[in-house]
Amino acid sequence: MEPLSGFTMMHEHMHLDLSVVKGDPDTCLDCFEQTLAELKDLRAKGVTRILEVTNVGMGRDLDWIARLEQASGVRIVRSTGFYKEPFIPAIEATQSVEAMAAMMIDDLRSGRAEVIGEIGTSKNEWRPSERHVFEAAVLAHKATGAPITTHTTLSTLALEQAGFLVERGVEPDRVIIGHMDLGGDLDAVLDVLALGVNVGFDTIGKTNYLPDERRVAMLLELERKGLIDHVVLSQDITRKSQLKEFGGKGYAYLVDTFVPMLRQAHMKEASIQQMLEKTPNRILGGKP
Ligand SMILES: [Zn+2]
Repeated sequence: MEPLSGFTMMHEHMHLDLSVVKGDPDTCLDCFEQTLAELKDLRAKGVTRILEVTNVGMGRDLDWIARLEQASGVRIVRSTGFYKEPFIPAIEATQSVEAMAAMMIDDLRSGRAEVIGEIGTSKNEWRPSERHVFEAAVLAHKATGAPITTHTTLSTLALEQAGFLVERGVEPDRVIIGHMDLGGDLDAVLDVLALGVNVGFDTIGKTNYLPDERRVAMLLELERKGLIDHVVLSQDITRKSQLKEFGGKGYAYLVDTFVPMLRQAHMKEASIQQMLEKTPNRILGGKP
């Protein structure tokens, strides 16, 4: 993947359907025109790429995404793999690790996807099918070199995820442990970073879980400790009600509101550029 100038949001969904399992129609994202309008706005504000982490069992629709990419001019990086229980399709959950890996490898080699993720664990619990997905992700990574991006449920099991991948020979800098901002626990973030992996502060704007001021404070501390080059940012929009059209903050909240909060708090411009441009280029295959 060529390095891009401009910002990359590293954990988003644009076509997603968790609504059947969750019993909540709000968790179905299929709003082409509304999403397109937001992406055009993002493009004008310097966001040139988005990592779309929706995979099989979450409502992934690669044709829909390709049309959105074409119409918006924003580069959309696609993902492969399986999410977490209860979203791993039953037929997949009973497959061998090798068969799961073969599906991911096929997606990656054919160019349908470039990243493995978001693969996840449950809250404080790593279920057998989720472990199989991680084992398959290791095989797919070794076969292709593709980055792996994860979902932690409320930041739980983050260190276990990172350890699992690194111990099995996954290149640490090709790993992003996701949703590390949700726990609000800087020590937990530092423990994960000590393994050499990257962390996602990727639920920005979800202030019902954690105030953004707390995210800013943690990021400033990571900057102070010289670790900001292993942090990526995003919002993880998963609901219709989070789109602008339906009264939400929208995908541009990160650039419109959160980045100014970082500047207000005297984060260095180079650090902002690192998280939003240089580190995404490094992980997604571009030159630093
Ligand atoms: Zn997630």
